[in-house]
Amino acid sequence: MEITVLGAGRCVTGSKYLMSWDSYHALLDCGLFQGPAAYRQLNWKPLPYPPHDLDAVVLTHAHIDHSGYLPRLCRQGFTGPVYCTPPTRALLGVLLPDAAHINEEEARYANKEGYSKHKPALPLFQMADARAALKLLEPVPFDHWHELHPGIRFRFHRQGHILGAAAVELETKVSGGKKKTVYFSGDVGRYGVPILREPVSYPGSDVLFLESTYGDRFHGDEDPRTVLGEEIRAGLKRGGVIIIPAFAIDRTQEILYMLHELMVDGDLPEIPVFLDSPMGIEATTLYTRFLAEHDAEMRQFFADQENPIFPPNLQVTPSSADSRKLNAMRGPAIIISASGMATGGRILHHLKLRLPDPRNTVLFTGYQAQGTKGRRLVDGDEEIKIHGQWIPVKAHVSRVSGLSAHADAGELMVWLARRERDPEKVVLVHGEFPAQEALAARLNGDFGWQPSIPELGDTIEI
Ligand SMILES: [Zn+2]
Repeated sequence: MEITVLGAGRCVTGSKYLMSWDSYHALLDCGLFQGPAAYRQLNWKPLPYPPHDLDAVVLTHAHIDHSGYLPRLCRQGFTGPVYCTPPTRALLGVLLPDAAHINEEEARYANKEGYSKHKPALPLFQMADARAALKLLEPVPFDHWHELHPGIRFRFHRQGHILGAAAVELETKVSGGKKKTVYFSGDVGRYGVPILREPVSYPGSDVLFLESTYGDRFHGDEDPRTVLGEEIRAGLKRGGVIIIPAFAIDRTQEILYMLHELMVDGDLPEIPVFLDSPMGIEATTLYTRFLAEHDAEMRQFFADQENPIFPPNLQVTPSSADSRKLNAMRGPAIIISASGMATGGRILHHLKLRLPDPRNTVLFTGYQAQGTKGRRLVDGDEEIKIHGQWIPVKAHVSRVSGLSAHADAGELMVWLARRERDPEKVVLVHGEFPAQEALAARLNGDFGWQPSIPELGDTIEI
């Protein structure tokens, strides 16, 4: 068996691994490259194996950098199946059509403005491709072995991270009738965070593909709930509206959970909370629906007939008309909207309206990548361009740190610590090179492992 790294090699995007046996070929994850143009260009590059001859895809989770190439794969003739957990299938029903919509809009805009090299500019995929991809999804429950092909089987293990996220344990026959197991960590979640069950620890395997996003960083000791409470109380004193940009999936639900706790504990007054993101609303409904994924505290809330991520003071505004009504609203109130880095979506309308007033507060809830409006605001820019217009920044801008869906360097070691045996081969993926080098040194120092750090296109023999 061979595994070729087609994405997330010395970078954190485009996760895609081609698994090849003599007569069977499957992808583990099928992610879209996101971020800088040099990466996004890679989405147009043909795969080294024809998509129409691929036998299957196995997905770790629904994030677009792990699943968003599926519609493109269908457009090139892939006919399935695609295996994923039941909650991942539900989330993809929201995420893939949204990704298709964004692609279509970008192509339309490029044609209108005439800035594309291609005439006419084409979308990477369209809504029809996303719909075709959704039809190929075959849910496989957690902890159940599923045969991919005679002699090859896999099972999903819970990984925290986001709803439905899994690690994949693959067992395959190799020459001489022996079996080998390959363990793909997917994106490793965190311990002690609300809503979802904790990650299942790494049990040991022959080969380990390990993510390394935070291989050189720690989330810090600051309790995000405390900081969120302090920032909102300060915001309420200023008298305006509190705007919280948040990723629609996972971060939004975590913020809603913490707001509920703060209000129940009396650390915050019960003020109206608005969730103004169609995807955030759908994701929150799905987080509510998959009861088996809830941790003990969340189960207790439900047993007490309480839904902490959909409390009575939460109002949702799915339609644009409802969303526009929020413009006339004065504080005190909290508006949660996407996207989390203010790169697009309804949050831009709220920022445009609220940034010029010093009574308002903007509270970012995660890492802000270089080049995003979120980063410029957190860095203290006094003016920001939104929809072609310069907007003065007078509102109070702040950031709650420590919120992340990824295990940090220490948590990765905790995830690995309970294994029953050591892997013969460790492959670091899904990380920037400096983070991977730091994690490799730590794994070597603590466990004596000698991980490899493949580049895009490298093949690993199993
Ligand atoms: Zn992820």
